[in-house]
Amino acid sequence: MLKPKFKVAICGGGISGLCLAVALSRCPNIQVDVYEAADRFKEIGAGVMIWSRTWKILEQLGLGPAFSKIAHAPPDGSVATGFDFRRSDQPQEGFRVHLMQMPYGCIRFYRVDFLDAFVHALPSNVTHFGMRLVSYSQHAGTVSLKFLDDTTATCDLLVGCDGIKSCIRAQIFKEAFDRSGDSELLKFIDPVWTGTTAYRGLIPVESLPPLHRSIADPMMYCGKSKHVVSYSISQGSVVNVVTFASEPEKEGIFFDEDKAWVTQCTQQELLDCYAHWEPEVEQLLSRIEKPSKWAIHHLKPLPFYVDGGVVLLGDAAHAMAPHQGAGAGQAIEFRLRRRPSDNLPHALEAYQRIRLPFANHVLKESYISGSMYEFDSEFGDDYETLVPAIASQWHWVEDTSPESERLRALGCFRELAS
Ligand SMILES: Cc1cc2nc3c(=O)[nH]c(=O)nc-3n(C[C@H](O)[C@H](O)[C@H](O)COP(=O)(O)OP(=O)(O)OC[C@H]3O[C@@H](n4cnc5c(N)ncnc54)[C@H](O)[C@@H]3O)c2cc1C
Repeated sequence: MLKPKFKVAICGGGISGLCLAVALSRCPNIQVDVYEAADRFKEIGAGVMIWSRTWKILEQLGLGPAFSKIAHAPPDGSVATGFDFRRSDQPQEGFRVHLMQMPYGCIRFYRVDFLDAFVHALPSNVTHFGMRLVSYSQHAGTVSLKFLDDTTATCDLLVGCDGIKSCIRAQIFKEAFDRSGDSELLKFIDPVWTGTTAYRGLIPVESLPPLHRSIADPMMYCGKSKHVVSYSISQGSVVNVVTFASEPEKEGIFFDEDKAWVTQCTQQELLDCYAHWEPEVEQLLSRIEKPSKWAIHHLKPLPFYVDGGVVLLGDAAHAMAPHQGAGAGQAIEFRLRRRPSDNLPHALEAYQRIRLPFANHVLKESYISGSMYEFDSEFGDDYETLVPAIASQWHWVEDTSPESERLRALGCFRELAS
């Protein structure tokens, strides 16, 4: 008699859900189903960057050639620019504060292409669109799912890849509160505002002066309580721009419930925000006709990701400020044992023990990095101390590898199972 397949339900078809679905669909003893609330896979028209750690995972999944084709340039491992940091909040030309370089540098994509590369690697029968999960229940090792249209499904493992406003995270922490009476647990449900507003736009490269620094290298234009990031994507044909303006005293507050997190704004608002910055920045911003405006939120670092047969992944687990370009990369850095049905609680515990401290570290440091680029950290704009501090914020990219963590997780699993 063949053993029935182990059923994994993935709730959410963003970067984290699709990357997990691609990885698990390669395991013959696992049945994967992706339940996505929308009627199709969607990504916003903007850039996304990853670092060597994430690239190596994509290669291990056999996706290197597909992602090479859509990167700003095929990644070859040579030392390249991570970011070129400049002081830019003055009308005259700015100056370099720090040049960050590393193997592979910053690998950049158009988000729509990035998500599509996962979609193309997915078997055709795993996705169910228009399925908004509203709740789940657990009984005797089976997880039952309830969707908005009153349909139901069951699985052995439910993975919450449902993003920063995750309903699965909300249920996990509400139930943990009901069991323990500890009201602190309720604080992990809702994301909080970082105090930062971002503006985003894309610029066709031919509309910029040919020697504009953003075309060749990822740039970080820094100023007091503000910074501007730009880098080329789509084989170098487009420059992605995302700017940040912070009110550090507002970090941790809840955003006005009636206000949308993402809106459109006028070009004038964007230009006014960075008035009197160096000409290179003005050249970028004046080419963004219709910027979008984002209230950047993050989570309080969660104390756990797992409840029985339910686990959180991606932004549902560790939504973070984007100042280390790491949210999606962290979502891709998961590891599940190939045969989780052998010993699911220990496999999930090993995942949690390895991934949670690491992702929480990146979450906290991403926020701190932003304050460093904006001269709002304890180092102010004392470049002698600030530059080494910025450099050390990135050590996690190279100090450990996803492979060394996979081996640690495996060791942890064996220890728990013995
Ligand atoms: C300005 C900005 C810049 C960024 N830049 C970078 C960067 O350069 N590099 C990087 O690594 N990261 C970056 N990030 C972070 C990155 O975008 C996120 O970490 C990543 O997209 C999260 O993917 P996800 O799949 O976990 O969540 P999401 O992309 O939010 O996907 C969640 C999916 O779940 C679905 N869903 C939600 N609720 C339900 C439900 N109840 N039932 C069924 N489906 C549901 C949604 O429709 C959606 O498809 C940036 C973020 C911002 C805001």
